[in-house]
Amino acid sequence: MADLATHPLLASADWDSVADEAAQLLSEYVKIDTSHPKGRTVEAARMIADRLATEGIESKVYASPEDGKVNLVARLTAENPVGKPLILSSHMDVVQAVAADWTFDPYSGEIANGYVYGRGAQDDKGMGVMEIMTMLLLKRHAVELQRDVILLATCDEEIGSPMGAKWLVDNHFADLDPAFVLDEGGQGDKGFFSAGDVFEVVVGEKKILRIKMVARAEPGHASQPWEEAATHRLVRAVNRLLDQPPEDRESGPVAEMIRRLGGDKAREEMASYRSKSPLLHDTIALTMMSGGYKINIIPEKAEMSFDCRLLPDTDEKAFVSNVQQVVNDPGIALDVEWTDAAPSMAPTDNELFAAIEQACLANLPASLVTPSICVGGTDARYFRERGIPAYGLVPCMFDAEDMKGYHGIDERLSVENLRLGTRIILDLTARVAAR
Ligand SMILES: [Zn+2]
Repeated sequence: MADLATHPLLASADWDSVADEAAQLLSEYVKIDTSHPKGRTVEAARMIADRLATEGIESKVYASPEDGKVNLVARLTAENPVGKPLILSSHMDVVQAVAADWTFDPYSGEIANGYVYGRGAQDDKGMGVMEIMTMLLLKRHAVELQRDVILLATCDEEIGSPMGAKWLVDNHFADLDPAFVLDEGGQGDKGFFSAGDVFEVVVGEKKILRIKMVARAEPGHASQPWEEAATHRLVRAVNRLLDQPPEDRESGPVAEMIRRLGGDKAREEMASYRSKSPLLHDTIALTMMSGGYKINIIPEKAEMSFDCRLLPDTDEKAFVSNVQQVVNDPGIALDVEWTDAAPSMAPTDNELFAAIEQACLANLPASLVTPSICVGGTDARYFRERGIPAYGLVPCMFDAEDMKGYHGIDERLSVENLRLGTRIILDLTARVAAR
């Protein structure tokens, strides 16, 4: 591909001072502990609203039915719009941090050695700051818009969005009604693939399916065990299941990713990382086990629960019937919790995907850009379910060490990544929304 130029708007900003400002803002944001179950999300929303208001950008805070849970929508308005809005989305809530496990205070927001430190720096307050900076820069440079640009900051993402994106989309969709959405989900991979630095743009997500296996049989004394005891038959069944892991298969976007990254070698590399190999197959994780109440009694019941993540094109019914076949025991019942969301995939042949691709390549010329899928869940699915193309990309370059920060300890984000991410989001926004 020929060298791509960055959007002309980028040349008008002083990027050293933008990066400093972004780092300060992220520091302030991280200091507001928005962790579940009772995070200070109201305060975070007020901080964002105040920051935008000082430069004349209005926002509206939507109070959800649950006390202390709010969502913020800010808007830059196009005068004679030619298309529906672009939403820049991020979530304000963060997962908890057990301070004793960290080497620094998770909510210090300290800026040192070129990093902003603290819970949420990566997931997802860094993304939020890049989007806020994009709004501020569009406003400061009085950019004429051809469609509205909406900043969306949600609560509850880390617990499935009941009062966040899901509630907002269910109850206030008319206020949003976007043409497309940019959210978290994918990122830049540094050092994972021999093809080079890769931006994974998420176009869809795996489906979540939960299975509880319940074995029941006659109870008895531990001195006289027998083959059909509930505990024993359950362990045998689970062994059979875990001994037959789902086979590798290249579902649509992953096949395209492997192709763009050069084929077989990329597939091998993908399979070699614990964080990437789930792109290649359905996964079955045994997460809960229970049964028994006294060491000398064989109980009448034993249970194990499995969190399964299915590729977008896996047939759920066939998956469950295969599990049933492998278990092959009439004394074991499967209690299935089917996925809550219809699978949906955003197209790669539209304006926003093209803009994301161009912005990434222009700002990091040696990189590759590819569609991918998210092995977890994000707010974007509530938009995809409505047929709105929603893409997941935190446009930063993360190596394997950086990736451990997601829901892990010692989370941090480099100022260099804040700068890169802000440049790319401003660039792609200008491509689709500026006149
Ligand atoms: Zn997140």
